[in-house]
Amino acid sequence: MAETQLRTLSGQVGIVAGTDVAALRDRLRGTLVGPEDPGYDDARAVWNGLVDRRPGLVLRCAGTADVILAVTFAREHDLVVTVRGGGHNTGGSAVADDALMIDLSAMKGVRVDPGRRTVRAEGGVTVGELDHETQAFGLAVPMGVISRIGIAGLTLGGGFGWLRRRYGLCCDNLVGADVVTSAGTLVRAGTDGDADLLWGLRGGGGNFGVVTSFDFQAHPVGPDVYFAYVLHRGEDARAALRFYRDWARGAPDEVAAIATLWHNPEQDEVPEAEQGRPGLAFMAMHCGDPAAGAEALRGLRDFGAPLADLSAVQPYLAAQRLFDADYAAGEMRGYWKSRYLDALTDEAVDAIVTLNEASPSTQSNLDVWQLGGRYARFTPDDAAYGDRSAAYLIGIEGKWTDPGVDGDGIAWGRRVFDVLAPFSTRAEYVNFPGLYEDNPALVRAAFGGNLDRLRALKKRYDPDNMFRFNHNIPPD
Ligand SMILES: Cc1cc2nc3c(=O)[nH]c(=O)nc-3n(C[C@H](O)[C@H](O)[C@H](O)COP(=O)(O)OP(=O)(O)OC[C@H]3O[C@@H](n4cnc5c(N)ncnc54)[C@H](O)[C@@H]3O)c2cc1C
Repeated sequence: MAETQLRTLSGQVGIVAGTDVAALRDRLRGTLVGPEDPGYDDARAVWNGLVDRRPGLVLRCAGTADVILAVTFAREHDLVVTVRGGGHNTGGSAVADDALMIDLSAMKGVRVDPGRRTVRAEGGVTVGELDHETQAFGLAVPMGVISRIGIAGLTLGGGFGWLRRRYGLCCDNLVGADVVTSAGTLVRAGTDGDADLLWGLRGGGGNFGVVTSFDFQAHPVGPDVYFAYVLHRGEDARAALRFYRDWARGAPDEVAAIATLWHNPEQDEVPEAEQGRPGLAFMAMHCGDPAAGAEALRGLRDFGAPLADLSAVQPYLAAQRLFDADYAAGEMRGYWKSRYLDALTDEAVDAIVTLNEASPSTQSNLDVWQLGGRYARFTPDDAAYGDRSAAYLIGIEGKWTDPGVDGDGIAWGRRVFDVLAPFSTRAEYVNFPGLYEDNPALVRAAFGGNLDRLRALKKRYDPDNMFRFNHNIPPD
């Protein structure tokens, strides 16, 4: 192999001798993919089609031994690395120009212990793959609402899904982890190892090393759940969002809802004249008995005169995949940010509806996630993830497929973020990071009072900041 350009800890691009790269390749069980190799373009592609970066090398790990070899190689050559789980980070943090990418996407092992209701999953597993294994035993781990996301980045940043108000975030259900640190050693995070490290992994991201496997607490869910899915006209969006605000206060913990401001989808149930026009949809899962779910979600269905009501009892697995088609990897280009709101005032409702109407892309949406319940009862001592007092998370999902919309799409996302600032707590969700252009501000806003403890942990596990392509916590 010819000499390879790789980015070093100082930020410069250095040259690594071909013999060193060849020696690394010989020792791997997985594969090493360089710019000249077939498969390089697939290996560097991530979910966000806006992100077009060229790593120096991609090391596709087959197991923990390969991860240790990768980190050791990086340490010996003073390199920075990126880490890839499911490749769905919207800021594209899994890939950086000239960096060594440690790719875990081939590490798919999952083992469920039905007796203990625990699950061990390797770093390349996706939400859908984990759900598939756990549902075989009538169990589920709280995961995200799209099945193709990686469990790794999702969990390490928090992880909002339909079970959040009953069982908390993904990270709240992380009970242990195996981590390869920047020293190239395997450490255990958890009560059977470093409990402080486990705390840091619950929201603190990929700052402390490469997580090769995650241990989760699972819960009885399904096989069927009640899922409410009700679409309203744009003219009714303000009234619907005000209704949602009042309805959400009285919902039991089994219910988790999102009110989405979007443009009505092109699907048969939506009258043709309304397709592509601004609208609002209620989406909500009740994770307990479906009959109780139908009752608990009745109010959401009874409001106003919907365009369409697609609510139904359905398999939990189907509900977890319901919106996958709207998020095709590679085709979709995106700019995602967030705001947390204590309250949905009439002014905030008006702003959200107006901003949606002004979107340059009919594929974008503004999601008003209902918080509270079990999610809100975890404390800053339980998880590095920050403050939980807000009643709503606003997911600002700028997305489009036409490259011609790039400039306007990003500008719209920024504008929504700015306009909603006065209504918000000023905290942010690290997994909706824009393109990381505000990384220090994002980290301060997200972690607040937990930042000093995270810094100390970072200094202990990654003093040279080898793992910096993430929501980065600078060492002390
Ligand atoms: C279509 C789509 C749907 C989404 N839906 C939701 C949702 O429902 N709820 C929600 O909360 N968020 C959601 N998100 C945001 C999602 O949580 C983040 O994008 C998350 O980073 C994706 O994780 P990943 O493993 O796929 O990402 P990757 O891009 O592979 O990784 C992201 C970062 O995580 C770190 N990382 C990944 N794997 C490891 C590892 N094994 N060890 C150490 N560090 C690692 C690295 O820093 C890496 O750069 C969604 C995003 C998309 C694109």
